[in-house]
Amino acid sequence: MPPPARLHRLPPPPPCLVASNTSSNLLSLKRPNIFLPYSAEFVSGIASKSNGFHCFSHPPLSKPTVDMDVEKTDSAKLKQKIEALEVKLESCTPGQFDLLYCPKCKGGRLIQRTLSFHISRSWSFALWRCFDLQCGWAGQVFADNNKENPRVSRENLRLEPLDDELLGYFAERMISKETLQRNNVMQVVGGKKIIAFPYRRNGQYVGCKYRTLDKKFWQGRNTEKMLYGIDDIVDADEIIIVEGEVDKLSVEEAGYCNCVSVPGGAPQTVSVNKIPSKEKDTAFQYLWNCIDYFKKASRVILATDGDAPGQALAEELARRLGKERCWRVHWPRKDESSSFKDANEVLKSLGADALRAAIDKAELVA
Ligand SMILES: [Zn+2]
Repeated sequence: MPPPARLHRLPPPPPCLVASNTSSNLLSLKRPNIFLPYSAEFVSGIASKSNGFHCFSHPPLSKPTVDMDVEKTDSAKLKQKIEALEVKLESCTPGQFDLLYCPKCKGGRLIQRTLSFHISRSWSFALWRCFDLQCGWAGQVFADNNKENPRVSRENLRLEPLDDELLGYFAERMISKETLQRNNVMQVVGGKKIIAFPYRRNGQYVGCKYRTLDKKFWQGRNTEKMLYGIDDIVDADEIIIVEGEVDKLSVEEAGYCNCVSVPGGAPQTVSVNKIPSKEKDTAFQYLWNCIDYFKKASRVILATDGDAPGQALAEELARRLGKERCWRVHWPRKDESSSFKDANEVLKSLGADALRAAIDKAELVA
């Protein structure tokens, strides 16, 4: 029997549990849609995928001009709002996620820094979540209520629901309209077909990744370095990590929502060096920025690609998350000499049950 569901404590209303394989302890949580507009104008670079590694280049796009006076006003306004929340900012660096004392639970029974607090680099907004089990206080404030997060302003909205051609593209990959909608997968308005995968935290847009039909990838400017689908693993006891947004959607088709994707593919090889300090570990900043979400997880299932970079990624993630709780998925064999490459390939070729079975058969890394 699966253990009782750990319910998310974030608003909106608690999710309901959907069909979970009784042979597995994995929980799949369905959450209601929350949509906030996001602009496609924050495009910062085009990436091409080769051997699983996404190289981000930066085409010359005009950057918004920064008005220092506006920034100063913003930081003063935001500070005032944070003070009103009784959050003490003594050790908070804009652009990072810092652990502070939570004013609601005062650090819980053990009086620990349980409040993960983030101030945007431009001081335009702050967001937070308390990781104390009993507390779970979360939310966000904006320096300027009228402006809200400038990256998600309505004026810049240039996303629209997927059209029939793109729905067809996903249908070929066995991704249903329902799953696309739950994850707010959209398309950029006008011109070339561009798929948008919004990145959200606490239901709030914090970035976006784009993909063309010929597999070019790029990220929105100012996109936070973080895992894709992070709201789906709040309080998760078991977490599945995959190597791409479409793989995350595929795992969901197999019945598991407690899944996140790394944002930018895999490294070519496992580093021979020891793990750098959190601050210097730039290639895995996305993981450190979300590390609190893993505190309660007793099992992490690494379902990265089967190729060499995918294996290197699994190894690097396991080194950082602790091998003793990491499990590795081995994709089923395709023929005598090869195996399926990733979650989506298994879903497309063998179906949702086979994908779920492959995940359930993950083997302990350590
Ligand atoms: Zn708290």
